[in-house]
Amino acid sequence: MHQPAITHLAAADPAVADLVEGEARRQYEKIRLIASENYVSTAVLEATGTVLTNKYSEGYAGKRYYEGQQFVDQVETLAIERAKAVFGVEHANVQPYSGSPANLAVYTALVNPGDKVMGMALPAGGHLTHGWGVSATGKWFDAVQYGVRKDTGRVDLDEVRELALAERPKLIFCGGTAIPRTIDFPAFAEIAAEVDAVLVADIAHIAGLVAGGAHPSPVGHAQIISTTTHKTLRGPRGAMLMSDAKHAKALDKAVFPGLQGGPHNHTTAAIAVALGEAARPAFRDYAAAVVANAKALADALIERGFDLVSGGTDNHLILVDLSNKAVAGKPAAQALDRAGIELNYNSVPFDSRKPFDPSGIRLGTAAITTRGLGVEHMPRLAAWIDQAVAASDQAELDRIAAEIRELLAAHPMPGWV
Ligand SMILES: *Cc1c(COP(=O)(O)O)cnc(C)c1O
Repeated sequence: MHQPAITHLAAADPAVADLVEGEARRQYEKIRLIASENYVSTAVLEATGTVLTNKYSEGYAGKRYYEGQQFVDQVETLAIERAKAVFGVEHANVQPYSGSPANLAVYTALVNPGDKVMGMALPAGGHLTHGWGVSATGKWFDAVQYGVRKDTGRVDLDEVRELALAERPKLIFCGGTAIPRTIDFPAFAEIAAEVDAVLVADIAHIAGLVAGGAHPSPVGHAQIISTTTHKTLRGPRGAMLMSDAKHAKALDKAVFPGLQGGPHNHTTAAIAVALGEAARPAFRDYAAAVVANAKALADALIERGFDLVSGGTDNHLILVDLSNKAVAGKPAAQALDRAGIELNYNSVPFDSRKPFDPSGIRLGTAAITTRGLGVEHMPRLAAWIDQAVAASDQAELDRIAAEIRELLAAHPMPGWV
């Protein structure tokens, strides 16, 4: 049953309540390996479901355009102060609605339409909002894109430097959405300084690892840090922009009134709760366990003949190139879903297949670590993945799904009792 109980919803609108219950059960019964997903705590869930959703509060604490901010101002200030403490930054804005609008606010703050910007190409592991062509950021700005080396699957910083020197972008994004390796913030900072660009570290995927000390911090290297709050950071769906004092005003103005209206105060409260959790010693253990699980799963997959982009992982994320197996990414992801293992098909660098039917699958260990799975479970998980990808009939997939339900029954899920 969903936790906290949704009794009012069930009485008022059973159709929606049934769907929420169905989704909660699905999350309970599956090994969730989508690298951008997690399970938030029951406290975070409760914060998102409060009367704070009723309140309008355009502006910033102490400077609002609406009255009645006695409590909302304090909620937002608490979230900001916690963000500053957890990440060690001079400035934080907790109002961006999500990661994509947060990144658009960075452009709005620092460049004009048509200006040159640089980011990692989507097929190499970058995010749409780093200037990829189908994104507004690729249409409105003159975006140049760097990739990874074919032989290593990693960013070639000499190549990034050459491109930056030739193109002289005003803004350089580092970070991405399918990068299994440590991001070298000092090296990117050196390149940005050389061409007089502002460096933006988009740590949406790894924010929880940074907060928990399991990935180097971009603070002191990138002038601006953009992050979602709902991936490894284990908060509600939302985002934050952080910066040095110099860029604070421009970022705040870009978020409001530049791009957004009223902030989502219930989300702000839940971000504050998640940051409170991230400040505790247990979160350091969590971040370390996420990385340990990813390494153990990567090793077990390699042992079974899977080809991992870059040969392994340093963080929570694994990108598998299935080209050496008899199956493409999409049918593999579909078979795995039926087998109780949820992940996404993904392009791999230099993919010969189309983005909607690519060669790879992407896995992450943030959610299963929250669920309490440890390194001892990873060889069995790799075996299930191997069996499901090679399975010739649905009965085998259903057998795996039943085994997974049995394993997960011993691992409580926040949001379900
Ligand atoms: C997820 C992600 C985003 C976008 O976040 P949304 O909340 O989905 O808009 C931006 N940048 C990176 C690197 C991401 O991984």
